[in-house]
Amino acid sequence: MTLSKSLYTRGIQCSKSLWLKKYSSEVLTPPDATALARFETGNIVGDLACALFPNGREIPYREKNFAGMAELTREWMDEGQESIYEATFIHYGVVVMVDVLRVTPDGVEIYEVKSSSEVKEIYLHDVSVQRYVIESLGHTVTNCYVVHIDTSYVRGDELDLSALFSIADVSGAVDALMNGVPAKLAEFEAHLADRENEPAIEIGKHCKTPYECDAMHYCWKVQRSIPDYSVFNIFNLGSKNQVELYNQGIVRIEEIPDSYKMTAIQQQKVDNWKAKRTYIDRDAIREFLSTLTYPIYHLDFETFQQAVPQWNGISPYQQIPFQYSLHIEHANGELEHREFLAPAGADPRYALAQQLIHDIPGNVTVLAYNMSFEKGVIEKLALSFPDLSERLKSIIPNIRDLMVPFQKGHYVTPSMNGSYSIKYVLPALVPEMADAYKELNGVQNGGEAMNSYAKLATMEEVKQERIRRALLEYCKLDTLAMVKVLNAIKRILLEK
Ligand code: SF4
Repeated sequence: MTLSKSLYTRGIQCSKSLWLKKYSSEVLTPPDATALARFETGNIVGDLACALFPNGREIPYREKNFAGMAELTREWMDEGQESIYEATFIHYGVVVMVDVLRVTPDGVEIYEVKSSSEVKEIYLHDVSVQRYVIESLGHTVTNCYVVHIDTSYVRGDELDLSALFSIADVSGAVDALMNGVPAKLAEFEAHLADRENEPAIEIGKHCKTPYECDAMHYCWKVQRSIPDYSVFNIFNLGSKNQVELYNQGIVRIEEIPDSYKMTAIQQQKVDNWKAKRTYIDRDAIREFLSTLTYPIYHLDFETFQQAVPQWNGISPYQQIPFQYSLHIEHANGELEHREFLAPAGADPRYALAQQLIHDIPGNVTVLAYNMSFEKGVIEKLALSFPDLSERLKSIIPNIRDLMVPFQKGHYVTPSMNGSYSIKYVLPALVPEMADAYKELNGVQNGGEAMNSYAKLATMEEVKQERIRRALLEYCKLDTLAMVKVLNAIKRILLEK
């Protein structure tokens, strides 16, 4: 068996996932742009964290020579090197590279660096296998730490690494896991010894926690034929109840017995799906529409986040707005469009906030889809820029949420698959726009917009221009979709 710490944690989540990674990786879904961006962030954060342990030396990575890396680690430890990055140890085929190893007179300390904002349970397993290997080689591990990002940090003119990172002592929690490590390794070894047969692991909660498994398409769709709308998609049912239903052999919505207890809104969606009918609460929709006054300002922001804040006044993982689209819909149906897309490579917030208050007058209806996001962005801008605060804050009470009629089940149709996401609502209500996002060139969803903008400053001019056009087109479509959805529900009220 050859096992790295990442394969060990994969096995902790699911031993079938480990087996598939080793022997059948072609069934796994390749990482998308968001996952790749996350890996890249992990690398940047990992490199930065090394600066917390100055005068360290890094074991150079040698893909086919882990033994050489382990040998060099041993040499440097013998030479008295205090901090070693990527210190490598091997014990019976288990290879671990410690992000930062501190060698002290009493033994060694393990520092595992994570780009997340907290210590997750899976990290403790990660550290436990490192400690197991190191101790098996005869070293004493005195303490274990997880180094993670502190989101309460607000960057000043200079980056303060000691404030950006938080170092959590996880020695006790790791201690509690140590007895279980040999048993886990034996379990994985037994599975991996059988190359012909996948471990017989059923799908369940573990497929999405702690990470969404990259074998989900294979296990859920190919092997189990779970439909797009199943008991796993019932709004707010909770994974425990979903798995309970699944374990009773109930997968399709139509298989849910009438006696099964659900909330009123869950029941309504399930009943409508079973009956293949559209439910419309005209009074409730009328009431919602009565809260809107023309002209209506359809607003959508695009934001991105930085694990390591690049600009003054920004916290790690804060939503940084860089773009918005605004469709202004007049009572006579006339549409105006305004937009903002910040230049790359500089803090986009102030210029965006300035143009926003220029584009949105006081006391007009602003419509968003999932308004808590747009409100949150504006509130944060108001906090950051006191000179614009009053005008920004004046927008907030006038924001209305186009998601409400769908979230509250005032309009439910089977093709929405029990969802109120605009991804389902738009094709259900505006079929001519069903493929509108797929037809876009370059940027087709919020994740792509976020990743594209984050990399914009590093692109060549021609590519930058192309991506900027794609970003503008994408965001414009978001607010146009809202205009169309609003008009579709207005039309529904006129129908008999
Ligand atoms: S999808 Fe679920 S059952 Fe399949 S390998 Fe992943 S975690 Fe295991």
